[in-house]
Amino acid sequence: MSALAFTQTDQARRIGEDERARILADPGFGQYYTDFMAHASWREACGWDRGEVVPFGPLYLSPAAAVLHYGQEIFEGLKAFRHADGSVWTFRPERNAERLQRSARRLALPELPTEAFLDSLRAVVTADEPWVPEATSEESLYLRPFMFASEEFLGVRAAHAVEYYVIASPAGPYFPRGVQPLVVWITDEYARAGAGGTGAAKCGGNYASSLLGKREAAEHGADEILFLDSETHTSIDELSGMNVFAITADGRLLTPALTGSILEGVTRESILRLAADRGLEPLEQKLEMSEILAQLGSGEITEMFACGTAAVINPIGEFRAHGGSWRVGDGGSGEITLALRQELTDIQYGRVPDRHGWLTRL
Ligand code: PMP
Repeated sequence: MSALAFTQTDQARRIGEDERARILADPGFGQYYTDFMAHASWREACGWDRGEVVPFGPLYLSPAAAVLHYGQEIFEGLKAFRHADGSVWTFRPERNAERLQRSARRLALPELPTEAFLDSLRAVVTADEPWVPEATSEESLYLRPFMFASEEFLGVRAAHAVEYYVIASPAGPYFPRGVQPLVVWITDEYARAGAGGTGAAKCGGNYASSLLGKREAAEHGADEILFLDSETHTSIDELSGMNVFAITADGRLLTPALTGSILEGVTRESILRLAADRGLEPLEQKLEMSEILAQLGSGEITEMFACGTAAVINPIGEFRAHGGSWRVGDGGSGEITLALRQELTDIQYGRVPDRHGWLTRL
């Protein structure tokens, strides 16, 4: 049993009702934050404290805090959805709790029990309930749990003092253009993760190392970057923040197998299940980039898409690399891609029965 309780706060909201309504009318992604956040501290000597909800605001941190020097940090991302009856739900949160535990193990951070993780989400959503967008929009409250080494110590070892927070941010479309086919740049220079590295963990360092590649992608007019395996630079890993799928003309749904360098996306896992339900054959396997590009040319692959919590499912319309460019299908949004997206969001917003038992009420 965890002692974590995330005691509610009696502090006033920091943002007035009018300002909140203005923000919720056009939240964008990751630009605005709610009134409160959840916080718990861990100390090597005594474990987790009880945890509390506090006003959202700057953190006090020593300049010698280990996270600022050695990057001992992990995070999660999931969404709270309002249903038509006003209730608020989240999607497969226990999968995020388990992934945070796996990330914690890899980064030598303390594990947060699943129940405590769920309680922390509930605590924030209870305090920030007016921030969950209405069911009529395709908007949600994005929840960002994170954990970092706060110990004031410059020696290189796992920290003895760690903080855990959950902040929340109202979210509209992840890409400013909405659901439009992405142009994806295939990098032949950078890798996201190597064998034995931290690719399967959701740690800040993976994202820091992706940024230069993302800049390179933008310089080539692309929206996103595709990383190949670090050893041979021939097979597909994933994008900087999304998993990748391909659909073939004969009904196979292909995605790279989990090799330890790919993040195990909750959306990825869910799509594999939904695909099987609609008669597609889901296959997790090594995907050679050259073969995929050849199959785009021959029409054997008809659709490709990227997926993750923030963007849900987004069609890929074109790949670019130093050697040329390749269109996916007719370059538009694939029919099966959009149907899968619709089905997933219908489940999340409670518009269809939750056949898989994927929703948890907050
Ligand atoms: N890969 C990476 C590198 C990511 O950051 C994410 C987003 N968490 C994903 C894949 C998709 O994961 P999920 O579906 O759980 O959001």
